[in-house]
Amino acid sequence: MKDMSCKLLVIGAGPGGYVCAIRAGQLGIDTVIVEAKKPGGTCLNEGCIPSKALIHAAGEFEKAARLASGTSPLGITAGAPKLDLAKTMLWKDRIVGRLNTGVSGLLKKAGVKTVEGWARFADGKTVEAETETGLQIIRAEHVVIATGSVPATLPNLPFGGTVISSSEALALKSLPEKLVVVGAGYIGLELGTAFAKLGSAVHVVEAQSHILPLHDAELTQPVAKRLQEIGITVLTGAKVKRLSANGRELQAGTSSGETVTLAADKILVATGRRPATEGWGLEAIDLDMDGPFIRIDSECRTSMRGVYAVGDVTGEPMLAHRAFAQGEMVAGIVAGKKRSWDKVCIPAICFTDPEIVAAGLSPEEAKAAGIQIKTAAFPFRANGRAMTLENEAGFIRIVARADNHLVLGIQGVGAGISELSAAFGLALEMGARLEDIAGTIHAHPTQGEGLMECANKALGYPIHL
Ligand code: FAD
Ligand code: NAD
Repeated sequence: MKDMSCKLLVIGAGPGGYVCAIRAGQLGIDTVIVEAKKPGGTCLNEGCIPSKALIHAAGEFEKAARLASGTSPLGITAGAPKLDLAKTMLWKDRIVGRLNTGVSGLLKKAGVKTVEGWARFADGKTVEAETETGLQIIRAEHVVIATGSVPATLPNLPFGGTVISSSEALALKSLPEKLVVVGAGYIGLELGTAFAKLGSAVHVVEAQSHILPLHDAELTQPVAKRLQEIGITVLTGAKVKRLSANGRELQAGTSSGETVTLAADKILVATGRRPATEGWGLEAIDLDMDGPFIRIDSECRTSMRGVYAVGDVTGEPMLAHRAFAQGEMVAGIVAGKKRSWDKVCIPAICFTDPEIVAAGLSPEEAKAAGIQIKTAAFPFRANGRAMTLENEAGFIRIVARADNHLVLGIQGVGAGISELSAAFGLALEMGARLEDIAGTIHAHPTQGEGLMECANKALGYPIHL
């Protein structure tokens, strides 16, 4: 096979890698991308997209079941819904397939050459890709490592048999009657909620003292309440002890010293992800590390000249939109533009029920940084649109400097609030003050008015409260 050479070689076509390659191609850089599986990476194939499809389907099923139960205050009743999980999964797979084709097409349109295979560094400028037709040598001036992350394993619960990761959970052929979820983080609660709504009996085992430990109790409380309503039991402060030989009984130690035995058809381990740093020759280039992650500077440069890293392999938060932004920035740098990481915030969303959005500093984080703050929350129960959508649970909260009212953080919890993350992020990136948000006309009736209302409240003159 003839050797290839290019200006930019990207390893991994997940959000970090494919965005970097597309932008580089658009900027006229001769670019090659190597991907061992499918374009789109974890996010598109086994993460963001299929999980959100399943969450939506589960929400629709639960809504229909509520109508069938005759408890809806809307005066609507309907027959009991039926689930054809195979069809649900097919619908989800078709969305993934459409987007796979879309990413491949965008790479092609930008003039990027794609090599299908597993890449391995021979040295800092040379990569060997194992392809179906043999070993492809690729030489490049610049290399971007975008190898992503893989599910973390628990030593006493290795994957296999009944013990599954999110990847298998998103491809189940039948609904587990009893599902035990280990970890009440993003994946555990997003997927645990979806399976419970579809009809599984779900138990969650969480090591920390409360669910979604990254967020404060005020934000997570509406989610905890809803988990209870859906019938999910959560054991917090609990530790997994052992799994029975047939894999169908999991013992967990509770914070009060008891041992609880949980019956399970499937056990979803969702205790975090680890960077994908094995099998591609990290040892050959000996990069500086930051714990398990590849160390990068504010331009995503690694310790080796000409080698960059983006996305999950570089650290927290392991979110697709962080990878997108890093990838886009690196393409600019390789094209000779002056770019560096100057983002004010990376919004984070839990697609739980209700959803949580966190952008910038929480009140506790701001106080811990020694900043005097003004903070206020506006509840959706005082918002007309939220009432008309039966979305009254939750609130929007704003955090600003007490002296000049610069907005430092906006968080919220509520149904559909993920769509407000753009407004929260924009306000923070633009350096908005409380007065800017309070003085912006927010269309009525929308849940977004809650943002203006909490800015007004922080300034001391709320209208609808
Ligand atoms: P990845 O997406 O992991 O892509 C890395 C790619 O590199 C893979 O395709 C892999 O096959 C390829 N690769 C690795 N090594 C090699 C090699 N040596 N040769 C060739 N190819 C290689 N994030 C969000 O922001 N929002 C969400 O809603 C969200 N939901 C998620 C739900 C789940 C269930 C999971 C698991 C994750 C979710 N995430 C979400 C996280 C998101 O998927 C990741 O942050 C994102 O995919 C990281 O992008 P990346 O480009 O760094 O790596
Ligand atoms: P996570 O870090 O969100 O949650 C892991 C949870 O497991 C934590 O609550 C932790 O305390 C708990 N835990 C750890 N060890 C445990 C043990 N031995 N027993 C019981 N509980 C234990 O990780 P995740 O849910 O696996 O998701 C991985 C990453 O994927 C996330 O950090 C995030 O970056 C990304 N993700 C993002 C989204 C989103 O943006 N909506 C959705 C899914 C995944």
